Amino acid sequence: MKIGFIGLGAMGLPMARRVIENGYEVTTLVHRHRKPAEELAAIGAQILSTPAELARHADTVITILPADAELKETIFGKDGLLEGLTPGMVLVEMTTATAFCMKEVEVAVAKAGARVLDAPVSGGTPAAANGTLTIMVGGEDDLLEQCRPLLETMGKNILHVGGVGQGKVIKMVNQVLAAVHLLAMGEAVALGVRCGAEPKVIYEVLKTSSGYSRMMDLRLPGFLFEGQFKPGFRLDLMKKDLNLCVDSAQELGVPLLFGGLAAQLFSAASMAGRGDEDFAAAADFLAGLANANLECC
Ligand code: NAD
Repeated sequence: MKIGFIGLGAMGLPMARRVIENGYEVTTLVHRHRKPAEELAAIGAQILSTPAELARHADTVITILPADAELKETIFGKDGLLEGLTPGMVLVEMTTATAFCMKEVEVAVAKAGARVLDAPVSGGTPAAANGTLTIMVGGEDDLLEQCRPLLETMGKNILHVGGVGQGKVIKMVNQVLAAVHLLAMGEAVALGVRCGAEPKVIYEVLKTSSGYSRMMDLRLPGFLFEGQFKPGFRLDLMKKDLNLCVDSAQELGVPLLFGGLAAQLFSAASMAGRGDEDFAAAADFLAGLANANLECC
């Protein structure tokens, strides 16, 4: 199987590396900076110049881009993937995008005689590097089985969640919860700190208490306790995810109270200059409003 891989960011680069290390022939593109593509070329990838050209050289194309706009540009734009897709090809689309956009892509790709798996991921950059991502797959059974060995180079938990678009839906649910848990944690721990508690003592107790969430393991040690916010998962990407959740909710007339508030807080943290930091910075921003410092290492 020849793989074309588009989107060599914090997630895509380590994922593409694993695909190559597992013996697949990979082609890729340069976007803005040459370095990520050159890193892959050093371990055997071939660098091509447009998505259309990449599609002509591949049986399966993987995309993991920032959001709807970049995905649409890559697929529908000039020299985009659609111009190179041929019958029988497969697109494995792993971006956190909207289900609406995914459905548009599915229709266009089907017209070219190709097929789509909707396969967003969770687990962050460490799981991308270790091949232990959770991959939530929307699409047909037989196509998932055909692609499973490829997906297993990147993920440990590969879960079939429904038709094309349902992967994006489940990912959206995860993002609302991840953001709300993070912000609630920042606010509540800040309250404890302002009342004289030690951040580490709060964490030790909560680990086995009813207020626990996995976000504590993921973002207290390594980020908030150290006061370091190197991404990881960029705050502006979570802002984008929350806005797409709000847009989807509005489209359906569904209230999204906590998600909407979380989106506003992420916008505020971004406007305060923290958009390129890890998304843990949103909890730090909130703790800052309480004049609390969660750093303790
Ligand atoms: P990133 O911003 O680090 O990388 C995005 C990459 O896409 C960049 O390398 C950029 O150059 C490239 N790109 C943008 N437009 C392009 C185009 N037109 N053609 C080719 N390349 C293009 O983002 P990331 O952290 O790697 O996230 C990628 C996706 O995965 C996002 O949808 C994000 O929400 C999702 N995600 C991220 C994480 C995480 O922890 N970082 C975890 C789960 C899911």
